[in-house]
Amino acid sequence: MLRGMPLPEPPFPEPILPGTTASPSGYVPRQESAPAHPTNYGERFAQDSDGRLVSNDLIVVIHETVGSASSAINTFQTPHPRDEDQVSYHSLIKRDGTVVYIVPPELRAFGAGSSVFEGPNGPETVRTNPAFASSVNNFAYHTSLESPNDGRGNSSRHSGYTEAQYQSLAWVVAQTHVPDNRITTHRAVDRSGTRRDPRSFNSQRFIELLHTYSR
Ligand SMILES: [Zn+2]
Repeated sequence: MLRGMPLPEPPFPEPILPGTTASPSGYVPRQESAPAHPTNYGERFAQDSDGRLVSNDLIVVIHETVGSASSAINTFQTPHPRDEDQVSYHSLIKRDGTVVYIVPPELRAFGAGSSVFEGPNGPETVRTNPAFASSVNNFAYHTSLESPNDGRGNSSRHSGYTEAQYQSLAWVVAQTHVPDNRITTHRAVDRSGTRRDPRSFNSQRFIELLHTYSR
């Protein structure tokens, strides 16, 4: 149970993710849609760039936006013809807990550059373009928390995320049915040496909320 946390007010739109998993508390976030420009995402590949079949199970990668939600959405909706400029998440969680859907979950969002997931099956990464480093994007669901105002720069810490964001993050991740041992952060999978997000993330609070769902 969510121990006296205030619930958001109805009415709620129909959840967009399939196979909705209900919270025992009845928590359902506000949901909006802000589709990315098609240059900023792609198909999930069945083969890597060397022609090997790939069939990794989904992972969840948690990010933070650093900038505001609106500036992140603006970036994702801007056409980016050059591969190296293309970026997106599947979803983003605003400070008030609103979930914004950006790329459909069955498609490949461009949330991470050079990256490897070290999980129960050993290192997992897929190269889909010979011109770029291998990445987790082919089997990742990328979701991102809007950073607080004091997190706009590149300081190592900030004031963190709202309770509504933790509740909505748990709800979103529960909908993916990804097991705990395949939930990770951008910081953990990054191999570029430049990504530390999400900073000041209370993973204990997130897991506590996630475990209120039967998945
Ligand atoms: Zn990130």
